[in-house]
Amino acid sequence: MWRQAKWDEPLIMEYKGNGGRIGTLIPHEKEIEIKLRIPERLKRSKEPEIPELSELEVVRHFIRLSQMSFGVDTGFMPLGSCTMKYNPKVEEKTSELVSEYHPLQDFDTVQGILEMIYEMQNMLAEITGMDQCSLQVPAGAAGELAGVLMIKKYHEDKNRKNRDEMLVADSAHGTNPASAAMAGYKVIYIRTNKDGLVDIDVLREVTSEKTVGFMLTNPNTLGLFESDILEISKILHRVDAKLYYDGANLNGILGVVRPGDMGFDVVHLNLHKTFGVPHGGGGPGAGAICAKGEMVDYLPYPLVQKKDGKFTLDYIPSKSIGKIATFYGNIANVVRAYSYILGLGSKGISMIGKLSTLATNYLISKLKGVRGLSLPYSDRPRKHEVVFSAKQLLNETGISANDIAKTLLDRGFYAPTIYFPPNVEEALMIEPTETEPKEVLDKYADAIRQIVEEAYKNPQLLLNSPSNTSVGRIDQVTANHPSSVTPTYRVYRLRSEGKISILK
Ligand SMILES: *Cc1c(COP(=O)(O)O)cnc(C)c1O
Repeated sequence: MWRQAKWDEPLIMEYKGNGGRIGTLIPHEKEIEIKLRIPERLKRSKEPEIPELSELEVVRHFIRLSQMSFGVDTGFMPLGSCTMKYNPKVEEKTSELVSEYHPLQDFDTVQGILEMIYEMQNMLAEITGMDQCSLQVPAGAAGELAGVLMIKKYHEDKNRKNRDEMLVADSAHGTNPASAAMAGYKVIYIRTNKDGLVDIDVLREVTSEKTVGFMLTNPNTLGLFESDILEISKILHRVDAKLYYDGANLNGILGVVRPGDMGFDVVHLNLHKTFGVPHGGGGPGAGAICAKGEMVDYLPYPLVQKKDGKFTLDYIPSKSIGKIATFYGNIANVVRAYSYILGLGSKGISMIGKLSTLATNYLISKLKGVRGLSLPYSDRPRKHEVVFSAKQLLNETGISANDIAKTLLDRGFYAPTIYFPPNVEEALMIEPTETEPKEVLDKYADAIRQIVEEAYKNPQLLLNSPSNTSVGRIDQVTANHPSSVTPTYRVYRLRSEGKISILK
């Protein structure tokens, strides 16, 4: 089993080195003639305290750091809602091609990259069933904010001053209500019904002339397909409210159905989830915001257009909300997604939804009936992900979803997403993606089974895991910045104790 390096093994950089050691690739300062004269006032007053180490020592330091981490390249990472699929290495090679461009370069000198953006705009529109996509947004949440601002401007243009209610599914990703609130809207949560789907009766009751839109993802966060989506679309459109698609969950339906055909008006995509761009750790992402019909006029600018056989980055939709990012600074990630799409071709792309759905349901078949775990809401097949509940296990053994997650780390797997979505108690949200081999899914299911068996036999053993990782069990709250996390934590605690309800 692959095992992480431990923190208690000494880190080379922790000692200062033996004064005078130096990497060999750069000539010693004294050996080169220094032509550049740096003004005295710009020079540092004292030598910085940095370690003096040989190249070998530095390499060992960074390789060691990489071994303390976990990624898709080292093991299975079924982090629900995050679509941690394998990132083909050809993407890295192609992304290097754009490392030397400047955003203010003349259009004539960057025709290739403009053509790529143009093709991406079109391919993503085709994939989503929308009319036009803009690659202005650097992440999913930025896409949501752009989409909500587009909806806001649409209603403002119609002089609807007292519309201020954005509907959000109660299982939605936290960025949905956050984006709506940032745009100045009241957030109204729509309950999930007993089948795990949007409660249509509640939706009908709540939708009114005050509704600006409904932010939804389909399949939803439980991995269930909202089969009433056409009816949902009708309810919203009857009052000219807009249907917004959180496309971070596109993986489960990619190549099978399209948001544009389900009645969605605005869609954001996460290129760094669905389209194979590496992500995690807060690194740069890439998004797209797509629109249909009259909403196209509100897309953020500039988009690439083709005029007389030439590509220009100067298409400004007539009612555009403006720019979301100053430049396409994250263009390397768009190149990665572009090579991912081209690499798979339309045939490969159309297999993603089917294979990721197959992987999820295979895992379900292996885990269904495991004592202590339940599959809440419905027995229907899931799409890209599945949410199990470990509530019974907690009640019977004292072992929580958190303990299962930590023990999985010990067995060389990444943990699933836990305690999300909020409408499942002791949630374990597993998203296997289409890229994992069957053998890995088998091993993962076996590991969960064994952990659960252990919980009934010897729960004490699980409480201190992980012990095989570089960092052991940490305090969930203080591990984050205490001052920033405490209010949220308090809300979660009060809610889990049944003292408050955020549902409106
Ligand atoms: C990841 C995710 C987002 C936010 O995307 P970022 O690129 O992280 O801002 C929104 N909705 C869902 C369902 C997601 O999984």
